[in-house]
Amino acid sequence: MDHTLPTSRADAIALDKADPLGPKREAFTLPEGVNYLDGHSLGPATHAALSAVEAAAKEEWANGLIRSWNAAGWIDLPKTVAAKLAPLIGANPEDVIVTDSVSINLYKLAAAALPLAKAKTLIVEADEFPTDQYIAQGLSGLSGADFVRVESGQGAAKLAEIGGILIKSVVNYRTAVIADMAAHEAAASASGGLIVWDLSHATGCVALDLAGVGAKLATGCTYKYMNGGPGAPAFIYAEAKIAQRLSNPLSGWFGHAAPFAFEGNYRPIEGAARFAARTPGVLSLRALDASLDVFDGVSSHTLAAKARALGDLCLSRTHALSLPAISPDIGEVRGGHVSVLHEEGYAIVQALIARGIIPDFRAPDAIRFGFSPLYIGFADVWDAMDELADILDTRAWDRPEFKVKAAVT
Ligand SMILES: *Cc1c(COP(=O)(O)O)cnc(C)c1O
Repeated sequence: MDHTLPTSRADAIALDKADPLGPKREAFTLPEGVNYLDGHSLGPATHAALSAVEAAAKEEWANGLIRSWNAAGWIDLPKTVAAKLAPLIGANPEDVIVTDSVSINLYKLAAAALPLAKAKTLIVEADEFPTDQYIAQGLSGLSGADFVRVESGQGAAKLAEIGGILIKSVVNYRTAVIADMAAHEAAASASGGLIVWDLSHATGCVALDLAGVGAKLATGCTYKYMNGGPGAPAFIYAEAKIAQRLSNPLSGWFGHAAPFAFEGNYRPIEGAARFAARTPGVLSLRALDASLDVFDGVSSHTLAAKARALGDLCLSRTHALSLPAISPDIGEVRGGHVSVLHEEGYAIVQALIARGIIPDFRAPDAIRFGFSPLYIGFADVWDAMDELADILDTRAWDRPEFKVKAAVT
């Protein structure tokens, strides 16, 4: 698509008209009057997901009852949904399984990888997403492995120096900086270390080629750019050869080679599927399954190009407002969101929400605008930035009700 920066609302509308992803917006149930720039936190519902959940509840569950595990294919959903997701991350479908949540999957993967690493050390960067840091700390306490926190961007160097396990986001949740996966994997291979990638902010807005860059282990979220629904199950990628050498520390029956043989001893199934542990949540799998159909025929390169073009437009407007950005600049490689800083960021976000524009806020001072490429257009970004300019100009944010912090920001 055309990447020239629109300099007027008419330009933005023209870009939207020419956008091959434009018609995808129809698949989503976005409320009237809402300009939703928070798909990096919770993707909106699709019409297909709502129908699928209703059908799964009313037909498969209410009428099919336990027969639905076989008759409706419930038992295969963790694999069939993984197979739909695999092309978006550049993975062989057999190397992916949908299961649990990112936090739990980080734990399982890092614990499983520890015995294979040269150094029994868990490495995270100081600006890594909190749950990734907390899981590493908890696992360190339980396993006796060392926990090392390095400066932002220093994970690969530490890995090259000592080996160990690096837990690392492909897209940083605050800045949207993208890690060089191939360079990190080279550092891991050379040092006898392993990387557990967190794809949460990358899947659906970044061109990913896990197999191509030699990634071994990864997990990612499906309720952000994948639109799987609140608390939707996460996925695990484990490259086939390494998966065979790993033991899931949560050795539940759904990772067993024959769960319904009811054997006394644990015997893992082949490949990545061994990282399943529990009975899958069928209703949320149904929602995710249906939402993934919207990605049919769309490459991650197309998604990434549009997300970046939208982010470029946002940055060109926030530059004009003199708002400092912590995300890579116009024309640079970046994830699907843009973060700008303002000490009254929280109140500004509340003022935007009051006008129907929904970004989010990350403490202490970052306003994040997310550009999910399937339903956001250039005119949406243009309009949101007009409102932002007005809110800053008139100090509309400066009201007591906009400064009361809610539990979820
Ligand atoms: C959203 C997100 C998570 C979420 O983990 P949950 O277990 O689903 O709560 C983890 N890591 C990163 C980097 C995220 O962006």
